[in-house]
Amino acid sequence: MLPDHSDHSVFADEMPKNLINHRDFEDLDFNDDNEIESDKPQEACGVFGVLAAEGDVAKLVYFGLYALQHRGQESAGITVYDEHGTTHTHKAMGLVAQVFNETILSEMKGALGIGHNRYSTTGSSKVCNAQPIVVNTRLGDFSLAHNGNLVNATELRGELSAQGHALESTTDSEGIAFAVGEAVEEGKDWQEAIVTALRRCHGAFSLVMAMPNVIVGARDAYGVRPLVIGKTGDGSYVLSSETCGLDIIGAEYVREVLPGELVIITIENGIQSLQWEEAKPKLCVFEMIYFARPDSVMHDESLYTYRLRIGRALARESPVEADIVIGVPDSGIPAAIGFSRESGIPYGEALIKNRYVGRTFIQPTQAMRESGIRMKLNTLKDVLQGKRVIVIDDSIVRGTTSRKIVRALREAGAIEVHMRISSPPVTHPCFYGIDTDSQDHLIASHNSVEAIAKQIEVDTLAYLSHDEMLKATQIDTMHFCTACFTGKYPIEVPDKLKRTKLMLENTAT
Ligand code: SF4
Repeated sequence: MLPDHSDHSVFADEMPKNLINHRDFEDLDFNDDNEIESDKPQEACGVFGVLAAEGDVAKLVYFGLYALQHRGQESAGITVYDEHGTTHTHKAMGLVAQVFNETILSEMKGALGIGHNRYSTTGSSKVCNAQPIVVNTRLGDFSLAHNGNLVNATELRGELSAQGHALESTTDSEGIAFAVGEAVEEGKDWQEAIVTALRRCHGAFSLVMAMPNVIVGARDAYGVRPLVIGKTGDGSYVLSSETCGLDIIGAEYVREVLPGELVIITIENGIQSLQWEEAKPKLCVFEMIYFARPDSVMHDESLYTYRLRIGRALARESPVEADIVIGVPDSGIPAAIGFSRESGIPYGEALIKNRYVGRTFIQPTQAMRESGIRMKLNTLKDVLQGKRVIVIDDSIVRGTTSRKIVRALREAGAIEVHMRISSPPVTHPCFYGIDTDSQDHLIASHNSVEAIAKQIEVDTLAYLSHDEMLKATQIDTMHFCTACFTGKYPIEVPDKLKRTKLMLENTAT
């Protein structure tokens, strides 16, 4: 078994530290070194795959990744299988639209393809860590795209290295691919090999995998990250992190891949299901609040509708007299509309996002640095002048961006600023595929709500309660991971890993 070296393209080996990505439009900030960084949790990855009866699928995979761009902006990649079962992979640093063009896609011939958008949660931002990962086995090429994070990645890599495998990347995902390859080389068939490999993995993983003529989806027993199945009118099968990936290529939603389920899909036999581990559902609740696109559907409704509901709950829990309700674009807007409808206070737009900023590698000037958020958000003075303003955001991580927004609102003429957050205080880091910073950077881990209000300079501050956040999902409230609000991690996190992100006094417990 060998790592695949075919056809890889490299645009840039490593991302500059001052890269602005999609999420940064909403949460841009400058750190002490004058580098631009984000003040919001960062989504890990988007995964996508298509198996068609005939015809080329590279373009469909491209558009699927395009719809999932919000889930990862550092690298993108597609692997297709041609009619002989040989893989062709193109992956590089950058956004999907930067990595692929018509020529590249037209050269990727084949009716089976998988793709990946990456934001690095394990392993640095280098092209060797881009996915899909391909390993050559005696049964043919195996390819894999992973969303999530293994908590035993170091142990798995150590075991595989000790067994003589030459792992090339620094990601946990490569360990999963090699574990499958190793099981195949030991004589197992594809299904046995995948199940054997999955049983060696602990943590969060939603996987799209492929081998000649077969596409496979799998989720960890907790189903922390989403994964759905779709089908097109011409009988092609689709796997996607979110339903917005199905919509863009005209595929119908079939169902989600269940926690602990493995789906093996062929054109001849359709969807075959195997519960490889007992389901213990714990979907990341932050997918509902913020990460997933508002037009994606989870539990039979769009996340826009859920976000309206948490806005309403927030208005009931923490009312305040004011003249206008505004949202921090884009992710705070549905909850702001919900807050307005519940409270009867008019909704308005007063923060305008620059939608046309792509990536920049240029350092801002000192004056721009001081003006902070103006690069991505600007205020409407005539809307804010003399008003008591309620501003809704989905979360506060470090608090630095919130303070800049509050200052900008006051400079534009707001006479009172009341902030309402449509999730509880983020007090703990995530180990399951979301980059939430270490605990000592989380403002709510060591400050009361009153102290945070003072630091971000608001007149009042309130967060949505944990109970209302879960009640608003309208499904079994036990079905969610809420560890970054509670510190109760559903999948055990080894102490060594905890120490990398938790404050020392907490690791002793
Ligand atoms: S810890 Fe928070 S961000 Fe991570 S999976 Fe759980 S709810 Fe989601």
